This record gives sequence, structure tokens and C-alpha cells, in this order.
Amino acid sequence: MIKYCPTCNRSSEEARFIGEFCEFCVADKIKATLPKVVKVRRCRVCGSIRDTKGFTQYTDEAMADAIAQQLHAPNCKIKLKEFDEMRRIALLRIECELNEGTVRFNYEVDVRFTKEMCPSCYRKSAGYYEAIVQVRGSEHKVAGFLESFSRFLEKGNAFVSKTAEMGNGIDMYISDKKLVSGYFMLHKTIKPKVSYKLYGMKKGKKLYRHIYSVSL
Ligand SMILES: [Zn+2]
Ligand SMILES: [Zn+2]
Repeated sequence: MIKYCPTCNRSSEEARFIGEFCEFCVADKIKATLPKVVKVRRCRVCGSIRDTKGFTQYTDEAMADAIAQQLHAPNCKIKLKEFDEMRRIALLRIECELNEGTVRFNYEVDVRFTKEMCPSCYRKSAGYYEAIVQVRGSEHKVAGFLESFSRFLEKGNAFVSKTAEMGNGIDMYISDKKLVSGYFMLHKTIKPKVSYKLYGMKKGKKLYRHIYSVSL
């Protein structure tokens, strides 16, 4: 039996039906409940996006995740098809599971970005560091160490907030002391001398900077 959509009068020969209505009218009803503008938190320095996991490097998935949080459509999956950075318009592919069936449609939304800084950029700009690594030795050995150490820090998302040339080596100020100790645990042949320096309190806990003296 041919069905006719009560809203637009399309027949079931022209369009797929989801319950009583054609899929176009079902999609239109959902679209009418979605916001036209969403606010996405973005770091103005590195461009990372605040999604459900925190600030993460920009990807289409991170962007879709951040937008989905603003759409409040719990039974719908949201994919980013295209993002027009100039016009700040995101073209989304939305798929919603309803009791009567699945409906899919495209949706355009205006994106407004915040002008904030992510915690990592904030710390970098404030010269934040938890560890100092003092490397001493021949130029050749110091260079070899720096290459391997820098690669390790980069993989772990730590940063060097300052370096100082010291004549027979270099001092590096590093954002993450756990990562630094992890490096020396993996490279047991380098045996740094470690000392600790109190630099503050946070929630009643003493904060120490770790100082590693490395002779190569
Ligand atoms: Zn219809
Ligand atoms: Zn950032």
C-alpha cells in the first residue's frame, strides 16, 4: 500500500519512510531542534581543539567531537565532512537512530572559536618547567644525547621551555619531570646525578623540581 507523508505529501514510492513520515520531513524535524551556531574551544596558539578528551591536536574527528558536545543529540552520530575555515562553517553528516529507523542527513552549522590558550601553550608561554637536565661532555656526545632526548620529549608531548649553553654542555628546562625520569629509566647506561629542589606547594603537597646532572 502506498503511504503519503502528512507533512509534504510525498509518496512512499518517491521517498523512504520512517514511521508515518518521509525521511526528509523526519530529518527536517530533527534539524529544527539543532542549534545554528556552536561554540568550540580552540587554542589560539597551536590550534588544538577541546574535545571530550581535553585539548587535542586538530583533526576532523576532534572537531566533530567538539561540535557534537554542543548539538545535544544523544542518539545521533556526527561526522565532519568539510570545514570552511574562512567562513567558519562546518558541514556535518548526521546519522540518528530513531525507534522507527535510521535517518541520515547533512547539516551546516556556524562555528565560533574561543580565543583561549591550551594548558600546554599557557605553560610554555609562562616558562613552566619541572626538571632541569644539565648535560656535559664532548660536543659530539652532547649532540647525540640531545637528538635522542628531544625526540623522546616530543613523542611524550613535553616541551623545552628554556635552554642555556654552558661552555662544556647545555642546561635544558623541561616541562614534565615524569617523562625525564622515564627517559633515564630506558637509557640505563647514562647515570645522571639527581637532586631535588623545592619550588612551591599545590593542594598541600610540596612541589619539587628534579635536577639531573649528566656527564657523557
Ligand atoms: Zn515528508
Ligand atoms: Zn595550544
